Amino acid sequence: MEKVRLLIIGGGPAGYTAAIYASRAGLSPVLYEGPEPGGQLTTTTVVENYPGFAKGIDSISLTGAMHDQAAAMGADLRRGIVTRADLSGKPFRFEIDGTPAVEADAVIIATGAIAKYLGLPSEHKYRGMGVSACATCDGFFYRKKDVAVVGGGDTACEEATYLAGLCRKVYMIVRRDVFRASEAMQKRVFNTSNIEILWNCNTQEVLGDAGGVTGVRLQRKDGEVFDIAVDGFFLAIGHHPNSDLFKEWVETDGNGYIRTDGVSSHTNVEGVFAAGDVQDPHYRQAITAAASGCRAALDAEKYLKK
Ligand code: NDP
Repeated sequence: MEKVRLLIIGGGPAGYTAAIYASRAGLSPVLYEGPEPGGQLTTTTVVENYPGFAKGIDSISLTGAMHDQAAAMGADLRRGIVTRADLSGKPFRFEIDGTPAVEADAVIIATGAIAKYLGLPSEHKYRGMGVSACATCDGFFYRKKDVAVVGGGDTACEEATYLAGLCRKVYMIVRRDVFRASEAMQKRVFNTSNIEILWNCNTQEVLGDAGGVTGVRLQRKDGEVFDIAVDGFFLAIGHHPNSDLFKEWVETDGNGYIRTDGVSSHTNVEGVFAAGDVQDPHYRQAITAAASGCRAALDAEKYLKK
């Protein structure tokens, strides 16, 4: 079995940043990129809120540049999926693509999270063409247009109020007759005049043409089917952190996010660090993930050089 000092799991902004810092610290990190190199960023198109790019940058170029920078610093970046982790004792042991392959003195978990989608074929068809799971990332493209947000939790309320500041009108599609969101977030929605809440509604289909989304077909609980015209369709029905492989050893919160100690990346297992969206239910931005990857590498460096 191959023995490495530092294993980084996940090829998104958190993992690549951790690899850049760890390489420069002489830790010779090995990074497995996982099923979707680039991470969630690759599900969006143009990134306009990552500092350093006055004209924005397309997401593939941005994650590609992060990858190349980590490789240039000396990180060993590999295609491959960690399929099993044994964090019961040191060194930690990992299966890659189903085969026991790597032992590591320390590990940074940067496996990210996946936005939940409704699972409609039309939703899939228009992904990146009006369908998005990140209002902060893509809302800007819908300035002065009409959009819809699906969901009734804190994220949906937050995204709807954010979009209401940019868009002409925001529909909220809520499947029950109540929100799940906190009172404070609900109040913000109720006090925003250009948000219209469509209670008891489920999305049947996302409508569109060659130019992208043009509307949404909804069904109310009483059976009525009707269409609304929108240019953007935002999913806000929750995220699933990719922590399942590690839950046997690493503490998670009720939603599966890995718990870290204060602002550090330390988990409850010494030598195991977590960075990026797998431990962040709140900010979920490329820049915050990158920053937490930096913290994890610094924490790992301190741990390994102890
Ligand atoms: P939640 O799980 O809290 O809410 C998901 C929402 O989506 C619910 O209204 C749910 O409906 C709805 N939903 C789920 N599946 C479907 C579906 N298939 N079709 C239609 N609607 C669906 O997720 P959030 O992302 O909102 O929040 C996750 C956690 O993060 C929470 O603990 C939240 O409090 C926290 N958070 C806090 C924030 C803050 O404090 N500022 C901001 C954002 C998140 P139903 O209610 O019927 O199940």
